[in-house]
Amino acid sequence: MTLKLYNTLTKQKEEFVPIHGNRVNMFVCGPTVYDYSHLGHARTYIVFDVIARYLRYRGYSVFYLMNITDVDDKMIKRANETGLSVKGLADRFTDAFHEDMKRLNVMSVNLYAKATEHVDEIISQIKTLIEKGFAYDVDGDVYFEVRKFKDFGKLSKQALDELKAGARIEVDEKKRRPEDFALWKKQKPDEPFWASPWGNGRPGWHVEDTAITTTYFGNKYDLHGGGIDLLFPHHESEIAIAESATGEKPFVKYWVHSGFLTLNKEKMSKSLGNFFTIREVLEKYESEVIRFFMLNAHYRSPIDFSDKGLDEAKQGLERIKNTVDNIKAAAKNAGEGSEGNIPDIIAEARQKFLDAMDDDFNTREAISAVFELTKSVNQAIPDGLSSSALNMIISTYKELGGIIGLFQDEKKEGGITGDLISLIVEIRENARKNKDWETSDKIRNKLKVLGIVVEDAEDGPQVKIR
Ligand code: AMP
Repeated sequence: MTLKLYNTLTKQKEEFVPIHGNRVNMFVCGPTVYDYSHLGHARTYIVFDVIARYLRYRGYSVFYLMNITDVDDKMIKRANETGLSVKGLADRFTDAFHEDMKRLNVMSVNLYAKATEHVDEIISQIKTLIEKGFAYDVDGDVYFEVRKFKDFGKLSKQALDELKAGARIEVDEKKRRPEDFALWKKQKPDEPFWASPWGNGRPGWHVEDTAITTTYFGNKYDLHGGGIDLLFPHHESEIAIAESATGEKPFVKYWVHSGFLTLNKEKMSKSLGNFFTIREVLEKYESEVIRFFMLNAHYRSPIDFSDKGLDEAKQGLERIKNTVDNIKAAAKNAGEGSEGNIPDIIAEARQKFLDAMDDDFNTREAISAVFELTKSVNQAIPDGLSSSALNMIISTYKELGGIIGLFQDEKKEGGITGDLISLIVEIRENARKNKDWETSDKIRNKLKVLGIVVEDAEDGPQVKIR
């Protein structure tokens, strides 16, 4: 079956055919690192993590690039509020972002590119735009002249007149027309700056991404992702910059946008103040539960966040994981025996899973194939399956789970880490024996946040590392 994906540019599902045979160049807009990332960010990055994983599973050689916006208005404002330098702020929250992504098992990005490390490339792209007559300098500020780019609006399907009337256009007296946008911002007192042909200043937002992608991918590439809020003006402006600068189109072959994570049906966002940070939620729920919750919906549909939703995800995930644990336990003692109809059950589940993923990355349907597999397997276990049948089942969960970043082997911690965990569990056990519930609960809760689950069984504490 062919892989189809919904392209925002053409507004239809299209067959996926990369520009260069088997190679896929993929870019997703990264975070502005002025604060901790929230669960809305997590959704978008989990979605594109799965898209990269699936393309790799299908045999494509994927280069996944993500930018980090480490200088902009919000960064400068927050740095001033906190007394940190813009670089100090950026370093702190870039590290925090990487930690969060690691904990969410978002591990498929090949290269993170910081805006501040690509200022030469940004300046060079702006120079080209001025030379070609698409941009103008007003006393140290440089703007893109939108009406010069005839295709403006082709991604968001808006006419220029509608855009002018729209609310999301930055007001700035210096611009020739309201819809023009900044490529280079003249330095204001105490702001970070770089030298340029137009004087000291810093890059505007949209040109950061186009300069980075042109550097690594050339004038055209395969897939550009991001949340649907970035469609306009960000992605529309990226097209205008890149296609004007290079003279080639389409700059991006497939535009893919993820739906919002909402809270009470309103987009979760920093500016509205209705957000939970990733690390806050990780204190209550395991990372796999968050992934499962996000992926148990189509990536373009909105998801409304609630504890109830996460609790349901937790139950669903546990049903699957308990089955996998039971099969693993059974496989240890199983010998020769019958395979029953396990090969057929597996083939059917795999086909259903892959068909769903081929249909615009429908993870919800793919997960439903895993539930069906789990149900059939549970029915088959009492029949006394052979060890080869049981191992076949285990590797199917591993194979399909690998695509969505779930159901992998529990981490086996050995060496000094294993010894430290044993020591901490022993200290907790002593606290319990002394009825010091406060200490024992505190240790258990802290370990849980780290993905180390301690369960008290009759024969002593059982430790599971997720
Ligand atoms: P930002 O740092 O706000 O530019 O966001 C980084 C990425 O997260 C972008 O791709 C946004 O579209 C995405 N994003 C932000 N808020 C949400 C949300 N509530 N739901 C889904 N994606 C979001």
